[in-house]
Amino acid sequence: MENDISNLEPRSVWRLFSRFCQIPRTSGNESGIGDLLLKIAQEYGLDAVRTPAGNVILSCAGSPGLQSRPRVFFQAHMDMVGVKESGSDFDFSRDAIKTVVTGDGFVTADGTTLGADDGIGMALALAVMTDPEIRHPPLSAVFTVSEETDMRGARELLPEDIPGRTAINIDSEDIGEICIGCAGGISMNIEYIPEISEVPPDYGTIAIAIKNGKGGHSGMEVDNGSVNAATALLTLICSLANEDIKVCLSALDSGTVRNAIPGYGMAEIALPEALIEKALDSLEDMSGRLSEKYRDTDPDISVTVDRVPNKNIMLTARDTSSIIKLRGLNTGVLERTPDGQPLTSCNLGRLVIDGGRVQACILGRHATETGKELLLSRIRKTVSEASARITAEECYPEWEPDSGSPLARIMTATYRDLAGKEPRITVIHAGLECGLLKNLRPELDIVSVGPDVFGAHTPEERVGIASVKTCYDWILKTLEKLSEGKEIPAEDTPAA
Ligand SMILES: [Zn+2]
Repeated sequence: MENDISNLEPRSVWRLFSRFCQIPRTSGNESGIGDLLLKIAQEYGLDAVRTPAGNVILSCAGSPGLQSRPRVFFQAHMDMVGVKESGSDFDFSRDAIKTVVTGDGFVTADGTTLGADDGIGMALALAVMTDPEIRHPPLSAVFTVSEETDMRGARELLPEDIPGRTAINIDSEDIGEICIGCAGGISMNIEYIPEISEVPPDYGTIAIAIKNGKGGHSGMEVDNGSVNAATALLTLICSLANEDIKVCLSALDSGTVRNAIPGYGMAEIALPEALIEKALDSLEDMSGRLSEKYRDTDPDISVTVDRVPNKNIMLTARDTSSIIKLRGLNTGVLERTPDGQPLTSCNLGRLVIDGGRVQACILGRHATETGKELLLSRIRKTVSEASARITAEECYPEWEPDSGSPLARIMTATYRDLAGKEPRITVIHAGLECGLLKNLRPELDIVSVGPDVFGAHTPEERVGIASVKTCYDWILKTLEKLSEGKEIPAEDTPAA
């Protein structure tokens, strides 16, 4: 059957993945997949524990002769992002994912996310642990819940849940990459309570709308230079102040979530009727320049400026100039690696006037301690200049790259043997759970790898069939090397 994935190679991996696809498992709804993991553990005689948070930890002994080798563990997450094509009546709380084998070597899903992020990670780990033919050291797998929302599963792990000091996270999405670090995150909600007044009768209103900016993931796409519509709106309004045209905000709405770059937004400003023409001219001019500036990165961008009927209420000019200062919350990239990769960045993801309050949601990312301090001081300075206040702040830790990682060295060698080329060592700007694990056990040597997963978190999500095989072989070769155990101190053998 064309769309039967259980005959793809390696069969053990695809059969497990096919079983996972039958079980609804969006974030927060992982009890069913947890039950299935425990059932599989029972089928194959693995030790299994479900933690109070719902994480599942599986363990098995080493092969004969390798029982006293240091334990190695895999890590992956149980949940998936549920996104479907518009108009689809798919129900993520009930329906099984329908997999499709494409003509060009991928497995995708029919109209929904596939959940290869991170179901294929769990399948790769379990395929190794359940195959009696494979020689391996003692193995464990730590499967977490709710990685995609707030990393609650990894956050609630205890030091004793970390089963070894060598770990392979299988949640990366590019075969041949060894990820050795990632940025941490700081999310903040910022609030400003403005003075509200009636719009005077001799005032008129101008609406500014930005549409069709490219937007995108604030971690992966922060460096592609596309417009942040929230910041761009504030910058346009600020340009009027520079021409001595005092305006009062009467509406503002841009973006949806903190971890996406807003590609659209609208603002309405009220100002004396006598200044309307001058303001319209100036805004027309500025918006033309804005479209020109983003012509390459946001080819479909449209910026419109129109007269509209007055709203009932507006902010004072003083409060409006405070709000404009919030554009400093979006810094884009603040700090880079020597070869230019983003290390520290900040995204103003949502900015809105709602119910008499101005609210801003931001997500800062930092891969280093200095970057984190830079970021926090920048945000706090901006917030205090705007006389706003921070109402909530939450963080997940960075995973600081360890360029001396013995495991990265081993996996570099095994990939070279297997693929005949060098792997790429990367530090990514999106979030992984490795930093949380490493905080629990600082001596942990952990890397992140995975097969090719493209279009994750969208209905276009697909996983490369050949890359799954490569990833599986790569893991086996690595376990073989770790079984020889020349590079990892043998005295450290945590109990199962
Ligand atoms: Zn993932």
